[in-house]
This record gives sequence, structure tokens and C-alpha cells, in this order.
Amino acid sequence: MDAAIREACGVCGGWAAGQPLAYLTCFALYALQHRGQESAGIAVGSGEGAGIWLKKGPGLVSEVFPETGELKRQRGPLALGHVRYDYSRLGKGAENRQPLLLRYRHGELALAHNGRLVNGAALRDELAREGAIFQTDTDSELLGHLIARENNPSLEEAVAAVAPRLQGAFAFLLSDGKILIGLRDSRGFRPLSLGRLEPQGYFLASETCAFDTIGAKFIREVNPGEAVVLDEGGVRSFQVLPAAEPALCLFEYIYFARPDSNLQGHNVHLVRRELGRRLAREHPAEADMVTGVPDSSIAAASGYAEEAGLPYEIALIKNRYIGRTFLRPTQRMREEGVDLKLNAVQKIVEGKRVIVVDDSMVRGTTGVKLVRLMRRAGAREVHLRISSPPVIDACLYGIDMPESGELIAYGRDTAAIAETVGADSLGYLSLEGTVGAVGLPPEQLCRACFTGSYPLR
Ligand code: 5GP
Ligand code: MG
Repeated sequence: MDAAIREACGVCGGWAAGQPLAYLTCFALYALQHRGQESAGIAVGSGEGAGIWLKKGPGLVSEVFPETGELKRQRGPLALGHVRYDYSRLGKGAENRQPLLLRYRHGELALAHNGRLVNGAALRDELAREGAIFQTDTDSELLGHLIARENNPSLEEAVAAVAPRLQGAFAFLLSDGKILIGLRDSRGFRPLSLGRLEPQGYFLASETCAFDTIGAKFIREVNPGEAVVLDEGGVRSFQVLPAAEPALCLFEYIYFARPDSNLQGHNVHLVRRELGRRLAREHPAEADMVTGVPDSSIAAASGYAEEAGLPYEIALIKNRYIGRTFLRPTQRMREEGVDLKLNAVQKIVEGKRVIVVDDSMVRGTTGVKLVRLMRRAGAREVHLRISSPPVIDACLYGIDMPESGELIAYGRDTAAIAETVGADSLGYLSLEGTVGAVGLPPEQLCRACFTGSYPLR
């Protein structure tokens, strides 16, 4: 694996005079918390340039901003925020927390992003040869260096000039303390939307659920290759990169996004329910009940049950308080199939033939766990159903997936995977079924982790 960290994060930020924008940004980050729990941060600008305020730290939004008084005291009209995800915890270093705050010839620069540059390593190498010193592993720092080298006092012009050098999947938010710019890659791999704040102001966020939380009205998605500029004058936009065929990440619909968000006009919850319905048609099973794994596969499981005409049961309970604490079960707990975060409801499962729906199978660790939990609770048969295709390859565009060798579907067919996880049967939703449930033309979705064929390298 290269030095670049793979992260699927959440970004948000806006411009609105006379509103507690830092405070609103904090709420928006709460709504985006599922996109990253490793660190959180908010930068606030005065609207006049100098003196960007920044606070960031490890953990959840509530841990970094335990008291909101300090945010309410920030009166600046512009703010940007970030939550960061790092499944593998490879980039756990404090220096990689965002937003970054950099100083350059024309003032200060706050930057945050979601995604990954495929030419990040090459850019880093080129800049390093020219003498650049790096303090982080982030693509945001690369963009900062490129902008500084443009030596243009207009951030807008500098961004337009360097954007063509960025290849990959990204949603960047950046500010010089005067304006806020949102920039989306030319394929639109990672989501970014624009909303309106009443009575006046605008807000950008990775997902539309953030708008609902702060009372902003969704206007539209930022177009692939578009830069949106927010400032005193409102919003303006320009196309900085040629818009290519869109390729929004299919995994956003399957797992990553929140069910109350809409992507490309399609509600995530409804897509997931349809995934479940199609899964039931493609892979029926003789069973007594259907259950879903909280929280991400509840919608798919309910769709499956509805289509199959079987009762939907809450047979798995998730402990919401374990959080990110890393607790190792004892050997005995492991052998008995105990799980800290998940438990089966014995009275429901006992003696039953159970269909367990999960949204995805990556390493297969969860699959093994689910089957063990069900058997321990007395299930007679366990039929595992996955509402997406087998993940067979790594993601180059910012979803934190393990390398192909660690994927359970790498070099294994479905029968072999069923045996590995110990299920009586296993069925994955086909790629056609998955794309069909979203309702977009297949070429408008990035399916690389399911096909191994990458739209951009
Ligand atoms: P596995 O256990 O097979 O490695 O991962 C699949 C399970 O993890 C599924 O239950 C799915 O909901 C969840 N999942 C899928 N992708 C990710 C991810 O990127 N991060 C985390 N934390 N969970 C994921
Ligand atoms: Mg899950």
C-alpha cells in the first residue's frame, strides 16, 4: 500500500452573515458523523481574510466540541468542517486531522477534503523534488502547495489554474478566510451538494442529511468538475474541469451514505429497500423469518421480507455505546461466538430458519460473526444474503477497503465463501440488480470494487 491514506470522509461548510455559522457547521458535522469517527474539526473565517480560527481533535464531534459556547462565540460568516474516517487506522497521525490551516504568501488557507487523488503520490514526489516540505499525508496539503505555487492573490483564480492537475476522486472545501470554495472532481465520484440558508447564505455538504439538520434547503448537487464559490455576494460557480461522464460511487448507496440523504435525486433508504426486494427475487430461501444487521442493512432486510412475504424480525441488537473503543474479547468469548457490539435475540431465533441480510461483505469478518451468533442463539438454519455484489477489488477513490488479498471474495466463489462463513446458503445481489435498484445508468456509477475495472487510474 502506498503512503497515501485512503479515507472516506465528510465535509461541509458555508457562508452566511449574521448567523452562528460555526455552530451550524458543528450540527452539520453531527449529521455527517457516520462518514468518519476518527477526528473532527472546524475552521472559521472572518470574511476579511486574516485570522482563521481552527479547532480539531481526535474522536467524535461531541468529543472535539463538548461545549458549544466557543463555537457560538465565533462570529465569522464562513466556516468549514470535516470528519475523518480511517477504518484501517493507517493514517491515525494527529497531523492528518482536517481542516488543515496553512500560511502562504497571500495569507491563510484552510482546506479539507473527502476522497483520494490517484496522482497524489506523483504530485507529492514532484513537489518534494522541488523542495516542498510536507507535514501530513493528506491530499489537502498537496492542493495547498499547488495553490501557493500559483502565487495568485485570487484564490478563485489559483484554484481554477491548478484544478486540472488533480486527478482522482475528491470533494474539496477550501477558504482563504474571505471566500469558501467547493470543488468536485470531473467524474463526481464523491458526493457534494449545495443548499440555501435562510434568510441569506449558502452551505455545502457531502450529504443532504446535513441540510435537514441545520434547516438549509437543498438546491442542487455540485456538478462534476465544478467549483462553487460562496462569499458576501452569494454563490457563483464555474466549470474548472471538463465534466466527464459522472461516476458516483455505488458504495455510497449500498453502505456509506445515511438513509435520509438523497444522491443524484435518489433517496438512499428507498434504494436500499429496493436492493432488498431484488435480492429476495434473485436469491429466495425457504425460511421462517428475515432479519437485518443494524443499522446499515435494516432497509434492505425489510425490502427482502416484504418481497418474500416473510415476517421481518428484529433478531439482532446492536450495542450503541461501545463506540470506537477497541476491546479484545477473551479466547473463551471468541470460542463461544460472543460479540461485543451485536447480540441475537434468542427467543426469536431459536429453532427457526433465519435469513440474515447484510449490506456488504468485505473481509467476511462480519459474516462469520453473524452466522455464529445465530447458531449460538439456536437458529436451525442460517441463510446469509448480501444486498450488493462480492467486493473483489480495492477502492482507489477514497472508500477505505482492504487490499484484494484480504477480501473474502478474492479468488473464492460463492460456495466457498458460504463454507468459510459457515452459512447454510449464501446469495449476493448481482451487479445488474444493484445498479437497477439505484435506477441510474450503469456507466454513471463507479462499480470498480465489484468489477476490478477502474474508470480512472
Ligand atoms: P467485513 O466484516 O466483511 O469486512 O465488512 C462488511 C461489514 O462491514 C458489513 O456489515 C458492512 O455493513 C460493514 N462495512 C462495509 N464497508 C465498511 C467500511 O468501509 N467500514 C466499516 N466500518 N464497515 C463497513
Ligand atoms: Mg454492517
